[in-house]
Amino acid sequence: MAIDLKNLTIEKAHEALMRGDYSAQDLAQAYLDNITAKNAELNAYLEVYDDVIAQAVRADRMIAEGTATLMTGIPIAIKDNILFAGKHASAASKILENYTATYDAHVVQTLKAVGAVIIGRTNMDEFAMGSSTQTSAYGVTRNPLDTSRVPGGSSGGSAAAVASDMALVALGTETCGSVRQPSAFCGLVGLKPTYGALSRSGIIAMGNSLDQVSPFTKTVSESEILFNLLSRYDSMDATSVPDNMRTAPAKKEIKKIGVPRSFFSGGGLDPRVLANFDASLEKLRAVGYEIIDLDLPILKYSLAVYYIIMPAEVSTNLSRFDGIRYGLSADAANLLEVYEKSRGEGFGKEARRRILLGTYVLSHGYHDAYYNKALAIREQISVALAKAFESVDLIMTPTTPSPAFKIGEKLEDPVAMYLCDIFSAPANLSGIPSIALPSGFTDDGLPLSIQFMAPHWGEDALFAVGRQFENTLQS
Ligand code: GLN
Repeated sequence: MAIDLKNLTIEKAHEALMRGDYSAQDLAQAYLDNITAKNAELNAYLEVYDDVIAQAVRADRMIAEGTATLMTGIPIAIKDNILFAGKHASAASKILENYTATYDAHVVQTLKAVGAVIIGRTNMDEFAMGSSTQTSAYGVTRNPLDTSRVPGGSSGGSAAAVASDMALVALGTETCGSVRQPSAFCGLVGLKPTYGALSRSGIIAMGNSLDQVSPFTKTVSESEILFNLLSRYDSMDATSVPDNMRTAPAKKEIKKIGVPRSFFSGGGLDPRVLANFDASLEKLRAVGYEIIDLDLPILKYSLAVYYIIMPAEVSTNLSRFDGIRYGLSADAANLLEVYEKSRGEGFGKEARRRILLGTYVLSHGYHDAYYNKALAIREQISVALAKAFESVDLIMTPTTPSPAFKIGEKLEDPVAMYLCDIFSAPANLSGIPSIALPSGFTDDGLPLSIQFMAPHWGEDALFAVGRQFENTLQS
């Protein structure tokens, strides 16, 4: 029986599996067949695991035994910086080529426990640094909606896998937009959860104070399903928030949407993005939301602050890749040479750029001028957002300044690439949740997207507005 993968959701697949319309094995095979047909061109997967069918057989057993839940038998892809014990994980870097994970990430443990079928690891920008999946050591990933364009990044492989029906859903990670931005470029829903909601245990760190595992789905309710499953306290992650501190905003009707227009009216925004944003705003107004202008001038510093704090954390995190403990180890005459050669050969250009930048902002003479100042402004951004949420329920902006760009574009211009995440930074810096939602297409068929931010632990409000927006688009 041919399965309609294009219109499949977690809920529909679950119902079909429970009814016995097809087995988890049939479903996994349908995705594997699609991967065989499409992955050579798109390069979304770096590896398809060799035990996919065995995982599906286990899911079928759970279904037969009556222990299946919503995610049992659901094919899911994971980004190449998420550890799966016994499998390779490279963060798309040469320095971790052939590195084998020795334990499961907490999110992988959870997925395994419910019988999800983890199909493989997906391509990404090296160590999650980038907005186009072009800095991978293993080739670019193509956008399934227009293969001359990038899928966004850094979790571009996961986005391309879902958008081309090579996985039903996928996990990526966000440090600054790496799920919302590729969701925007590939027409998907991308959720950046509250910092500390999902465990970072078993995630190859980029910027610890910013990183969060984040799901890609076609619909808002699937995003909610994955969030509800994976958002749980983990004692192995020191920044995982204990259950009794996960205080959601008081439940109330969500009706006030704040728009910090000066944040995106300063130029550099594609006119098609702006027109679509305004049209989206009108749709929300028409279904009863009150639109409120917000003055948040501090937001304009978000990206600059991010590009100080993130490289500082990157330079610290990536110091563990010394040619001795993990992955690639160069032949050399002495210890210093092992470090130099392994790191020199193993890291790509963008990783080296950020290590240098981070080491510089943390160095004795510049620590106060750059790093400490950035931390202080980060705090001010959080305070300003918290204050804004006293008068509005949600904040809305475009997800990205432009739709998907061409492969090769911006690659030699790091600042142009960094600007792709200008609207992402506030949520990651302040730890609040944010959701990117498909909001239509350009005349030439490129997806467009809007994003909402909510106060800490306000994911329910994001899902509520998301579902309503999804409905207004379909009506
Ligand atoms: N574009 C961001 C960067 O390059 C994306 C980082 C991320 O979210 N992993 O740093």
